[in-house]
Amino acid sequence: MTSSSPLVGVLALQGDVREHVAALERLGVATTRVRRPEELAAVDALVLPGGESTTIARLARTFELLEPLRERIHAGLPVLGTCAGMILLADRVLDGAPGQETFGGIDMTVRRNAFGRQVDSFEGPVRVEGLAEPVHGVFIRAPWVEEVGAQVQVLARVDRDSTGGAAAGRIVAVRQGNLVATSFHPEVGEDSRVHGLFVDLVRGS
Ligand code: GLN
Repeated sequence: MTSSSPLVGVLALQGDVREHVAALERLGVATTRVRRPEELAAVDALVLPGGESTTIARLARTFELLEPLRERIHAGLPVLGTCAGMILLADRVLDGAPGQETFGGIDMTVRRNAFGRQVDSFEGPVRVEGLAEPVHGVFIRAPWVEEVGAQVQVLARVDRDSTGGAAAGRIVAVRQGNLVATSFHPEVGEDSRVHGLFVDLVRGS
């Protein structure tokens, strides 16, 4: 690859793969769907979509992608995980399904289905570090981040003005090295700015 034209894969086992491909294509980025180890080996960066983290992890094991994914993440592959994808990047999960596995990589504890349980279908403006204007955050049975390690940079929290509920002030976007995770779905709608931040990171890595 050249640093200006990376190939960004979208893990295509389950979830809103098409929306992520569309968001990347709006930015003019070359994308491909990843279902097999050879496809993973070919990409310069990866997106883990929203969907169902337990299903994605189970299918990753079935498709013999789980260990290759862990290895590439450990080796520094840039990865953007949204919602279920955030859970998959977490080193620790609260309220997970019994035996739930993740790929890991971000030193954080996420609470699965945190918004679904306590603040159903939350939507609102989210100010993201590095973006001048807020994004419209769509949270669908989304996790939030309960605790982060020292290496983790917090990129966004739920605005205290937009909800007085249990979600107020919760961490909903983080970065650790080449790994970025959001609780919300930046792939929904026409706004590709969060993907743009990720692609900048990929080009710089
Ligand atoms: N609740 C889902 C999970 O546990 C995530 C929801 C989503 O990605 N919209 O994986």
